[in-house]
Parts: sequence; structure tokens; C-alpha cells
Amino acid sequence: MRFDDIICSNAQIRGLERSIYTDKVIQSLIFEGQPGTGKKTIANIYINALMCISEKEKPCGVCSGCRLFSSGNHPDIFEIDKGRKKSVGVEEIKNLVRQAVIRPNESNRKVFLIHDAHLMTAQAQNALLKLIEEPPKYLSIILLCENIRPLLETIISRCTIIPMPYLSVNSIISALSKKGISGTSAEIAAQSANGSMGKAEAIATDAEYLKRRDELLEILLTAQNSKTEAYSRATEKKDKLSDMIMHWQSFIRDAILFKGGEIDNIENVDKIIKIEKYADKFSRDELISQLEAVCDAEKRMYYNAQSTMILDNLMAVI
Ligand SMILES: [Zn+2]
Repeated sequence: MRFDDIICSNAQIRGLERSIYTDKVIQSLIFEGQPGTGKKTIANIYINALMCISEKEKPCGVCSGCRLFSSGNHPDIFEIDKGRKKSVGVEEIKNLVRQAVIRPNESNRKVFLIHDAHLMTAQAQNALLKLIEEPPKYLSIILLCENIRPLLETIISRCTIIPMPYLSVNSIISALSKKGISGTSAEIAAQSANGSMGKAEAIATDAEYLKRRDELLEILLTAQNSKTEAYSRATEKKDKLSDMIMHWQSFIRDAILFKGGEIDNIENVDKIIKIEKYADKFSRDELISQLEAVCDAEKRMYYNAQSTMILDNLMAVI
């Protein structure tokens, strides 16, 4: 892939591309964005361009640097991944720092790529900080993270931060159509993806996604007639609680949007009749209370509250 392939590129990404052709390559970079927003894709294009030894457009795709990059075995690229662990530990970072003094072999530059950098322990960050403060001239340190907040201020202040571009619903729909995905499933995926192409693609290519959503939404609609029936169905789907909360949130938000006449922003575009019925049944304030209860349930899940307790609380409001 090349820089031209990036959907919705922005000034910062174009600046990054230009920097490759100068002797002012940015040494410490953070790509920040939620999963599926293109951090890895853009970082890979950038790293490939850094490894490219062509005098013309980078990455050229044919030089020895590009070929080594594509093989996944470029000796000047070092990647750290938390793997199955919950965090990126200090030992991994220390090993990386030890590699820094060795000059690149094949290319003019050496790259350290740290995935899930927001999950580095404080010790790991401190070990990295020394390197970020005074990196060897040939080294580029690239951090991929969902959110920069967990990073030390001293790291953030020494890095150039590239936030991932937020993709509009229309640009996701057009990107999906280039991949052969169109129609209602593309529209629902684009509306539900929160600006993330990766998420949209995952939704649109998952044949069971809509079926699972329908089953979970049906529980919310059943609750309007029989709370006991809804409660028992929800208990059966306890292992899907996180998806249930996500779809309920989205449906109730749609009902609020419908009431306010903002039909264009509705996520569940194929459920418009049910959304209308639901919106008619409740006042705006009641819908907002419902949405707050569902958001609260999401928070409780995050703090590992028991699923039966979460369901009890939800059913009291829905
Ligand atoms: Zn090349």
C-alpha cells in the first residue's frame, strides 16, 4: 500500500509523507486511534517508506528494502506486541533499548514499533523514555495506541502525535463499495462503525451480525409487553450482555434521534418502523433515562459487576 491508498488522509499524514524525503525524519511518533481506525495500516505504509531505498516515490514496492519489508523479516524493524499479556512490560522494552545502539543493517533507518503502547507499564514507559529523550539519529520509535492518556507526560511531550482521521459515514460507504459491499448491510455497518473502517468492514462481512442484533433487540421490544418474558430471555443471553447493551444503546439513541427529526443519523436504518413505534411510546425524557440506564450498565460491566445485577437494574428502567 502507498500513501495515496489512505482513505481520508489529512494534513498531518501528508506532512509525515513529505518528511520521508527530507533529512528531518520524525524520530518519535504516536499514532492514536480506536481499534479499526487505520493505525497499523498507516504506520505500515510509513515504515515501508522509511525502509525503501528508492530515490523516487517511496514506498516503491520493488527495491530490496520494500521486498524485505513485505516478507515481514526486515532486520531493521523491531516490533513489540503484548501478545497474551495484559500489558507491555519493562523487560520487553529493555530488550528493545539494548538493540538501539546497533546500527541498521540493510536500510538507512532502524524502526522500533510498539503495539498497544497505552498498555505499557509505568516501568516500561520509564525505560523507553531514556531512549525517546536521546535516540540515535538512525532510529525511529513508533507507538500505536488507542489513547495517549495512560502515557507519561514526558513521553507525550517528546513525540509527534498523529490522531487517526475520523471517517464520515459516506466515505465508509464508498470505501465498502470499492470492496464489493453495498446496500443495507453497508449502510448499517457505516452508521454503526463510529468512524472506523475496520469496524465497518467487520460488521458488513459478518453474515450473522444482523441476526444476532435482531435477537438482542427483540428482547428490548418484548420488555414493553412482558418484563418477565424479556428478563428470562435476557438471562438466557447473559453471555452476550456486552452486545445486548451496545445494540440497546444504539436503538434507544435512534429513537431519540427520530423524535428530534434527525433521521439521517439513525444507525439501524432497516428498523425505522420499529424505531418510530418505540419513539411514539415514550417521551424524550423517558428515552433519555433509558439511554442513561443502558450507559450505566455498560460502565458496570467495565467494572466487572455481576451480569444478573446489571440485568436487574436495566429491567427496572426499560
Ligand atoms: Zn522501495
